[in-house]
Amino acid sequence: MNHRQRTRRVIIGPVPVGGGAPVAIQSMTSTYTHDIDATVAQIRKLAVAGCDLVRVAVPGKKDTDALPEILNQSPVPIIADVHYHYQRALEAVQAGVHKIRLNPGNIADRLQVDRVIAACRERALPIRVGVNEGSIVERSDQRVRAEQRAALTEDPQGQLVRLMVEKLEEYLRIFEENAFHDVVLSAKSIEATVVIDAYRAIAEGFDLPLHLGLTHAGPPETGRIRSIAALGTLLAEGIGDTIRISYAADPVGEVEDAKELLYSLKLRERTGPELIACPTCGRIEVDLIKLVADVRRKLADEIKLPIKVAVMGCVVNGPGECEGADVAVFAGKGKGIIYVQGRQKQTVAEDQMLDALLDECRELAAGVERGEARLSRASVAIASPNPLAHADGSVSS
Ligand code: SF4
Repeated sequence: MNHRQRTRRVIIGPVPVGGGAPVAIQSMTSTYTHDIDATVAQIRKLAVAGCDLVRVAVPGKKDTDALPEILNQSPVPIIADVHYHYQRALEAVQAGVHKIRLNPGNIADRLQVDRVIAACRERALPIRVGVNEGSIVERSDQRVRAEQRAALTEDPQGQLVRLMVEKLEEYLRIFEENAFHDVVLSAKSIEATVVIDAYRAIAEGFDLPLHLGLTHAGPPETGRIRSIAALGTLLAEGIGDTIRISYAADPVGEVEDAKELLYSLKLRERTGPELIACPTCGRIEVDLIKLVADVRRKLADEIKLPIKVAVMGCVVNGPGECEGADVAVFAGKGKGIIYVQGRQKQTVAEDQMLDALLDECRELAAGVERGEARLSRASVAIASPNPLAHADGSVSS
């Protein structure tokens, strides 16, 4: 599955994008950029969560004025998001940003776009050129607009994708005429299926690196699913060089979701603990949902190694389902059996399962750090006699 479509490479600060580089995660601040302290604080949180590139909006001069100090304090490359005012792009380039996001369709005239391209060329900065579903239907020419709208009612998705690709081609001609090739492309829609079709078409027609994302995807509950449906499909097909999962909430969650998506598709090496847990069923005899939430929170706070931890509700399906766990607990009848790399270590009461599991994780992590232990892919075999057996020898099932 690890086939990736080969694209050209651009360099954003120290981060390569395209040309076989690891898929980069990006997000966007939700602060006012001119509020330097709030913006830097959010950029730092995004970086800690695993964000490789951060975009900031620069609608006003006071926002571009804030960029030098933001850049000074940012641990990751900064991209300036420009709409309407080409001067903001020039100011952002002057301030030292690492990339510009520009929609030539909302810059007043061609000469202004040319000036931004010239400024980026001088500093070797890439430009992301994007189309959004909402901005591609002709606005100024009423006749063309009527034709496009009519076509959209006949084959809505096909026509929309065709319009998006045509618009990108139109924009790209400006860059080609300027012999400027450090371009990243995007084509966003609120619909996952449109995004999938649009990027498939673009990947076929261009060799430029692709920034994957949806636009206006909604609140986390729906935006997350829409984003992952579209981005996961495309990434699994080898399409996409940098991704943004977006929804209306704290952007740190976007980054955590993007990271998990890349881990799931084996496009990024896991750096922290992996928690697997059973969904529970009618066999459950402990409060597993609470235990899973507690383990997740504690692991995130304390363990920095990719330890695989399994929290299972019983021994019926647990061992097979958490094959390869480094540390596991199989719960039942008010107690749990703790396994470390396939070997049974101890049986504890329900109220001690969290502490016992975490102690084993800490001990294993310390051993790995000292070079005395290795993370494994050991299989789990339940020891006999089964400690969850009732006094009469029967087992809860
Ligand atoms: Fe049910 Fe046991 Fe499977 Fe959990 S591990 S879902 S409790 S059978």
